[in-house]
Amino acid sequence: MTSVSIPSRPVDRLVQLKNHLSTMTQKQHKLCMIPGPVEFHEDVLEAMSTPATSHVDPNFIPVFGEVIEMTRKVVLSQAAQPIILSGSGTLGWDQMCNVIEEGDEVIVTNTGYFGDRFGECLETYGAHVTAIRVPVGHRVTVEKVKEAFESIKKPVKMITMTHVDTSTGVLGDVKGIAAYVRQHSPETLIVIDAVCAVASEELRFDEWDIDVVISATQKALGAPPGLSVVVASQRAIKVYENRKTPVRNYYSNWGKWLPIMAAYEARKPAYFATPAVQLIYAFHVSLSQILAYGIENRFAAHREASVQFRMALAHLGLKPVAVDETCAANGMTAVWYPEGVDAKLVAQMAGQGVQIAGGLLQPHAPNYFRIGHMGLSVCDPNRKHIKKVIDVLTASLSQLGYKA
Ligand SMILES: *Cc1c(COP(=O)(O)O)cnc(C)c1O
Repeated sequence: MTSVSIPSRPVDRLVQLKNHLSTMTQKQHKLCMIPGPVEFHEDVLEAMSTPATSHVDPNFIPVFGEVIEMTRKVVLSQAAQPIILSGSGTLGWDQMCNVIEEGDEVIVTNTGYFGDRFGECLETYGAHVTAIRVPVGHRVTVEKVKEAFESIKKPVKMITMTHVDTSTGVLGDVKGIAAYVRQHSPETLIVIDAVCAVASEELRFDEWDIDVVISATQKALGAPPGLSVVVASQRAIKVYENRKTPVRNYYSNWGKWLPIMAAYEARKPAYFATPAVQLIYAFHVSLSQILAYGIENRFAAHREASVQFRMALAHLGLKPVAVDETCAANGMTAVWYPEGVDAKLVAQMAGQGVQIAGGLLQPHAPNYFRIGHMGLSVCDPNRKHIKKVIDVLTASLSQLGYKA
């Protein structure tokens, strides 16, 4: 992005901003191939530029209602409760304040940066966190989870998993770990940080008996950033209802939001805090597209794209951070820089119209880069986004002196 300096007179500032924005049309913009925000469909963008609309307008209420229903379908659930709030994915972590009380035991399975941060968030609300750590690029095994349960002599209130840790591109074994936990410790809440996984990775809320899925609009869900998307099981809501101490958070309090979600789903007006009307419209468009494409087809398309992507990497002699295929995410890949190449690659590719992301997990961050391959870029092959990112990657590496 070109930097816009702040001029002395506001009118100049407006002109500068306008010039800057004019280089950012859908046609001219840099292809955004980071692990979120992902590329947006034109219809999604159009929904963002709709006129001022009351959040209790009779035409808006059913749109929000349908967004709630479609969200439930996307995670393959019949009866779970979506909670859709203005905020980013991180707000989903904070919403765990509704089920956590001081001193609760929580196991955090950690496959990168986002596990650390989620654990930090839960500690803010008084949780006692036991983190399971594995070497970078590996996934947490059921065996490790078993050891953690055995080491904690008290009931475990919650276990969290990062479905795809966006800092490493590692895909967690949600199905396997959830099955073990449900059998071994049926009361433990199974909470999935699926911010970078919903609508790209296989996730079956009811079948796998999950309690909470946390996501956000700007990753595979394909809408602009700004909505926190949480889906909670009836079991999780019971835990909230039966808690002994008050929720120590105002905006995130499910006591405020559950009646609002119920009202919108019943096509009735309600108000606690103004919803992001235009984002809800945009999300409605992307959810409709996802369901029209079909969830199973989405899983398959992302699996295929990731195979194609890893084959291209192998051809270039590059190594993914995820150590093998079973633990490699389908919607993104983190890749070690080859000998002689560093973060200059990110700028080199940006110069050729493709934005990728640098590393995130310390101390390895300077040694790898990340590419998102999810959502529209995967499900609409006519756009040739995957081919473009591979072509520009190949050319940029060569320009930086790397020989495959
Ligand atoms: C992006 C992401 C988050 C944080 O979401 P924000 O929208 O940036 O707050 C959390 N967890 C994972 C796995 C993510 O990929």
